Amino acid sequence: MRRISTLHDFFARDGLVPLRLALTSLVVTSLVGMCFGLGACAGPKRTQPVDTEPRPDPVPTDGTPTLLGVGLLENQNTLEISANGGALVLDGTSGRRLARLDGSDQVVCSRSGHQVAWRVAGLHGTSDSVILQPVDPGHRVIHGESEFRGDFLVRPTPGGGGLTLVNNLDLESYLLGVVPWEIGRHDRNRLAALEAQAVAARTYTLSHLGTRKSRGFDVYASVLDQVYKGAVDEDPLCNFAVENTAGLVLRFEDQEIEAFYSACCGGVSSNIEEVWPRDPKPYLISHPDSPKGGGDAYCSTSSHFHWREVWTVGQLEEIMRRSLPEYVEYITQPGRSEWAGPVFSPRDGSASVDKPGRLRNLEILARTTSGRVAKLAVTTDAGVYHVRGDRVRWVLKPADGNPFILRSAMFEVELVRDGDRLVEVATRGRGYGHGIGLCQTGALVMAEQGKSVKAILDHYYPGAELTKVGR
Ligand SMILES: [Zn+2]
Repeated sequence: MRRISTLHDFFARDGLVPLRLALTSLVVTSLVGMCFGLGACAGPKRTQPVDTEPRPDPVPTDGTPTLLGVGLLENQNTLEISANGGALVLDGTSGRRLARLDGSDQVVCSRSGHQVAWRVAGLHGTSDSVILQPVDPGHRVIHGESEFRGDFLVRPTPGGGGLTLVNNLDLESYLLGVVPWEIGRHDRNRLAALEAQAVAARTYTLSHLGTRKSRGFDVYASVLDQVYKGAVDEDPLCNFAVENTAGLVLRFEDQEIEAFYSACCGGVSSNIEEVWPRDPKPYLISHPDSPKGGGDAYCSTSSHFHWREVWTVGQLEEIMRRSLPEYVEYITQPGRSEWAGPVFSPRDGSASVDKPGRLRNLEILARTTSGRVAKLAVTTDAGVYHVRGDRVRWVLKPADGNPFILRSAMFEVELVRDGDRLVEVATRGRGYGHGIGLCQTGALVMAEQGKSVKAILDHYYPGAELTKVGR
């Protein structure tokens, strides 16, 4: 098993707005005629011109591959892109051919006003956006050391002065570059867990299409959505897991579910509405990650099942100097503040929420159903900060920056004082990640024990139906 850091931790995913919008301007012309198991293939499709407006229905119902745009880079001054074979440079709006390159040519793009300036093989011009499309769909587009299936789209970064690089490709090809980075590479006896991960990632993608529309693509290629690294280091067994579950998703009441997952639930999964400012979901509920008849949690062998994090008070004050104001800024945004309630009680009229000062006390005031910290009172010179839900992990960042945020919100606080003075803070906790939905280490153990992909998904998303996309 690879190190656990390959498993997923939704560092910032709770910031998503659950919009159900359309695909953004993304058509992969090289995919014409390809069929990826999404129901009966209707035969070659006429390539649509790339449009810049969202299309109304992102979910195919007739066997057409689902196409999406993965945001690889934003605000780049220049982009040098190429392909490992013959390729076309197309105008992103009209689909008109601008240039043809062979395997040794590079397209160099830069920002020119509100447009993309491009040059290749002695030709140059400007367009609203530019597509690089391999002539043979089996070839890859290349940026730096990375290769990708599908096409590249280069467009101006919305609200920025640089360029955005988007990888346009079909959903099934995208998953080949996601699954090994989200759950790691494993032996065949864990195949059912890889399949469960493939279904969860596919479902997550479909239920989050449109949430990044303002950025000019569908999903980020990072923990902001799902880690995606293209075609450079695909894993044969992960590819098999994707292909073996092609087109399979989880649905509840005729909609793809919000298939969240995290690395290790610490023995009990989370009710989503207690952890994030989100509506409750009947399939994202708190339950023991154990066999029905009881026993050890499936994920109890994880190296992150138990952990401890320690700070000197000086280290934590330095971290909280930024993390507390950042928390207040984050949680007081519309859609969050109602959920969070009052977040800061100043000591007196001279106190500033942006200047926490010396740390006086930490106290857990409330816990979620699963035992995670629901409300942490942080008392400083400035007053009392009420930190809610999973955001305690951003406030209590580890001193060495590894991991970037506290492993989980399931912890006890240990304070060491010298007289009245706080000198050391420790948290003793369980699990890694938000604990909502599928527990990756638990799923791997269930697979080892011979459980099927359906049994794993039933366990982690109770009540959701495993079915073909669009059905
Ligand atoms: Zn677990």
